[in-house]
Amino acid sequence: MNKSSGPFLNYWFILVALLYSDLLFSQKEYHNTYLKVLGTLQDGGSPHIGCKKSCCINLSLEEKANRKVTALEIFQPQSEKSLLFEATPDIVSQWETLSYPLHGIFITHAHMGHYSGLLHLGREALGSKNIPVFVMPKMRSFLENNAPWSQLVTLKNIILYNLGHKTSIEPFTNLNITPIRVPHRDEFSETVGYIIRGPNKTVLFVPDIDKWSLWEQNLITLLKEIDLAFIDATFFNSEEVNYRPLSEIPHPLVIETIDYLKNVSADIKNKIYFIHMNHTNPLLNRKSKACKFVLDEGFNVARLGQQFEL
Ligand SMILES: [Zn+2]
Ligand SMILES: [Zn+2]
Ligand SMILES: [Zn+2]
Repeated sequence: MNKSSGPFLNYWFILVALLYSDLLFSQKEYHNTYLKVLGTLQDGGSPHIGCKKSCCINLSLEEKANRKVTALEIFQPQSEKSLLFEATPDIVSQWETLSYPLHGIFITHAHMGHYSGLLHLGREALGSKNIPVFVMPKMRSFLENNAPWSQLVTLKNIILYNLGHKTSIEPFTNLNITPIRVPHRDEFSETVGYIIRGPNKTVLFVPDIDKWSLWEQNLITLLKEIDLAFIDATFFNSEEVNYRPLSEIPHPLVIETIDYLKNVSADIKNKIYFIHMNHTNPLLNRKSKACKFVLDEGFNVARLGQQFEL
């Protein structure tokens, strides 16, 4: 090599390196992504209509303020965007706690706790413009063909986007969402859970499901592939539902789920956050024996305001 070409080669090397690093940087745009728990109750919330039992009477102001129907927020500070999972009857107060402007709502199914909050987007209340609402085909048809929901569509308060079973979509950079069908009382719509993939962590969200054994998906296999799981904890045990036949309320009881997962590693148990608790569920009370039992077994109970980086 000719010695006199040395400085020129160095300049070329620096120029190429700069261009390359710039290219790499633009290709690897990274958006920090967070999940926040906006509610943990079953559809009817708490205090529950007509309930005169100890679960709902004499609640302190703080306890009442912490009892919102199950919903999750996913947000990205760089792009200042939020997504909402479920439009609950508590959407008014949940909307206030959103970290950034809402860019879409994902709905699991047509039971009151999961979609009735959409009514607040209509002309009598928010009068929103073109809020994307992501739904499965039967849920879409239900909203389009039944008043008052159909008015939200015709007035373009909401814009419906199709989802498909196990078909992933990427609403934001570094965020991937996959609906998975789950067995549930499907009077008006199908029911899905969601797999939410952030840049580093993956979340399973299944607020409502019949027994785990009826699911085509194996819960334990799925738990090995994800990092956090917010799953159906409607009822703690059978004692809690003795006023109605269990067949009418098919959910995996919390003690059944714990028993089903008794042989998995502590690491997997620790991924689970029980959510969607009925007003009668003792897990709502942090000081209950049931809550201590669940935590001692290595599981977690979802609480309003909890935040996780994905
Ligand atoms: Zn529900
Ligand atoms: Zn109650
Ligand atoms: Zn339901």
